[in-house]
Amino acid sequence: MNVSSFRVDVPAGSVLFKQGDEPTSAFLLESGSIEVTTEHGSTSRRLGLLGPGDLLGEMAVLDDSPRTATARALSDCVLMPIDRKQFAERLTSADPVVRALLLSQIARYRSALAQLSGQSDAPVAVARSSDASIALDKIRLESHLREALDKGELEVRLQPILDIANHRIAGFEALTRWTHPERGPVSPAEFIALAEETSLIVPVGDYVLDQVCGALQRLRKYREGDPVFVALNVSGRQLDDDALLDRFLQTVRAHGLHPAQLKLEITESLVLDYVRVDSIITRCHAAGLRVALDDFGTGYSNLGHLHRLEFDTLKMDQGFVRQMHEPRCLAIVRAVVTMANSLGCDIVAEGVETPAQLQMLGELGCTYAQGYLIGKPLSLDEAIELV
Ligand code: C2E
Ligand code: MG
Ligand code: MG
Repeated sequence: MNVSSFRVDVPAGSVLFKQGDEPTSAFLLESGSIEVTTEHGSTSRRLGLLGPGDLLGEMAVLDDSPRTATARALSDCVLMPIDRKQFAERLTSADPVVRALLLSQIARYRSALAQLSGQSDAPVAVARSSDASIALDKIRLESHLREALDKGELEVRLQPILDIANHRIAGFEALTRWTHPERGPVSPAEFIALAEETSLIVPVGDYVLDQVCGALQRLRKYREGDPVFVALNVSGRQLDDDALLDRFLQTVRAHGLHPAQLKLEITESLVLDYVRVDSIITRCHAAGLRVALDDFGTGYSNLGHLHRLEFDTLKMDQGFVRQMHEPRCLAIVRAVVTMANSLGCDIVAEGVETPAQLQMLGELGCTYAQGYLIGKPLSLDEAIELV
């Protein structure tokens, strides 16, 4: 056998690795044919016949356990070794649920093989790693979220947004709350991210919209002639769904509302794909919906694209307001407010907690303020009282 780190030549009849060997690397069979067998005493059982393009020896590398089978060349073979690190790095960065599924399947396969080769009568108990239990907790939480959605247990709260110059509540941002029966309140940062990992965010978003429309219908009675708006967070995954806008508009109309009362908040990470965001904004505007850029100034601010994206509103991330007492931060806030005004956008300062911050923002010409000073996310009844 001729071995280098890039190529292994195995002459016909030779053994590449034996059952029970410690794993070194996996292999990609480039040419030739290899028989994989498992041995028990004098009996040998063929598990597979591999040809060019097949992967072998990966299992032992994945779970770092001895080889479960013997690989013998039936003809002259050329293989490419695959370093265990190449798998390990990908496995570490994979979704923990996918990792747990893979490792549990390997463990089950090993157990079945052990029974087949007579090494064990009973199925081998599959040891549960902490990694697997994290993954299962996540799956469990996701199922609970599905159940909560199904039972209508997600609560949509409304955080007031103040029109600074006119001292009145102009609208609200819809923020979703979930109280888990055992864990108590789960932060949206956690459950929205969980829902975004699968398509669960789509029905969650539809549910939130339905609640928001119901709220707008009730709020309308208290602000005849001066309607409030509700801003709704939409995530990238929701916007992948081409039918989303049509469905949104249908819901809005079914509630007898005007699309301009609804504002979609798109988070900044998505603006990276500006062609897609541009087409979403165009479609929203054609339908009369308004669009806000959420968390402006965090991470992905790309001023090179911003001038092409006709957002109606910029929402300045709360990090800026929090540090506005520092002269350099204040300079940035001033510049962002000026930029928004020059672009013809409204600007919402997020996370306003003190009267000093509110006063300064007013002086800078900021349109709206949102934060605990104005009000925490409220129930619908509390929101009605406020308007
Ligand atoms: P966001 O859209 O930037 O929402 C603002 C967050 O800041 C909210 O956190 C709000 O409670 C919090 N906040 C508001 N005022 C203050 C303040 O004065 N001080 C401080 N420290 N925090 C303040 P929340 O409710 O935990 O939501 C976190 C994120 O989860 C939201 O960030 C939004 O991106 C996402 N989210 C919430 N509900 C939904 C939803 O229904 N759908 C989607 N797609 N995302 C949602
Ligand atoms: Mg938001
Ligand atoms: Mg925000």
